[in-house]
Amino acid sequence: MNNIWITEPETQAELSSSTDIGHTPNTRANKERESHKLEKRLCRLMGQAIVEYNMIGEGDKVMVCVSGGKDSYALLDILLKLRARAPIHFDIVAVNLDQKQPGFPAEVLPRYLESVGVDFHIENQDTYSIVKDKVPEGKTMCSLCSRLRRGILYRVADELGATKIALGHHRDDILQTFFLNMFFGAKLKTMPPKLVSDDGRHVVIRPLAYVPEHDLIDWSLHKEFPIIPCTLCGSQENLQRKVVGNMLREWEKKYPGRVQNIFRSLQNIAPSHLMDSGLYDFKNVKATGTPNTLGDTLFDEPEFKVSSSLDAFEIKVEGES
Ligand code: SF4
Repeated sequence: MNNIWITEPETQAELSSSTDIGHTPNTRANKERESHKLEKRLCRLMGQAIVEYNMIGEGDKVMVCVSGGKDSYALLDILLKLRARAPIHFDIVAVNLDQKQPGFPAEVLPRYLESVGVDFHIENQDTYSIVKDKVPEGKTMCSLCSRLRRGILYRVADELGATKIALGHHRDDILQTFFLNMFFGAKLKTMPPKLVSDDGRHVVIRPLAYVPEHDLIDWSLHKEFPIIPCTLCGSQENLQRKVVGNMLREWEKKYPGRVQNIFRSLQNIAPSHLMDSGLYDFKNVKATGTPNTLGDTLFDEPEFKVSSSLDAFEIKVEGES
């Protein structure tokens, strides 16, 4: 696979401009220009993730899980655009699991999927009743619900002959999961761009891994996707995820670029400079006699390029013990 997937680079002016369509004067021409730039950026970021993680290969059949939320609509929409210009052939089948939640507008997704001309399958399974029946009143239903949904999607992937299962998680989902695992699970891990499923039989991909959520919000508004509310089950959104999301947004407001830096750090790991003996053989460390710029620097503080006095101040404070 080569990077014909990736659209030509944006100009510096484009890259440095605000990503929010709504931040520019509200003229029709401006809106069109901004949405064109946004489309190019979404295609570039998704193409880049697909290439860098070798997500899709010749002859793949990609099952795109579509829930009716903005992220999965955008995933399908941009993937269809990329397929039209991809240097390889692959198939896409959109799959929605209708869990029979009260008030689920069953006609909305089929109508949309027909309108964009993609192969699709609606799987009707009343997991809502099972979950309601099994989970005591007042307890959270999400864990059983997700387990049931996962099993059904694996089966559907088998039945459809799908070779990849594509999910709509984006950059900010990945970061939130990273912090949730750290805060509550004492683990450095997140949802990766590509991984074998827990039943060992499927490859799960997240082509939106590089895309920030605000771009998906803007794209969804621009495309006027027929969004289906995700609260039909009556369950509360994960409150801790919300808290972590707000924490990241606050950081970004105060220190622009911090969120992207954290994200990039997930791709730039130095096992010898962490503490996991499973990843680095600390027990057998020996002096080599050869200078090594990656070696220990004793008392020296790490050096950072900082872009503002505010950042410099913050690093100094954090470095003090
Ligand atoms: S929010 Fe509702 S649909 Fe989503 S996992 Fe929880 S119970 Fe299931």
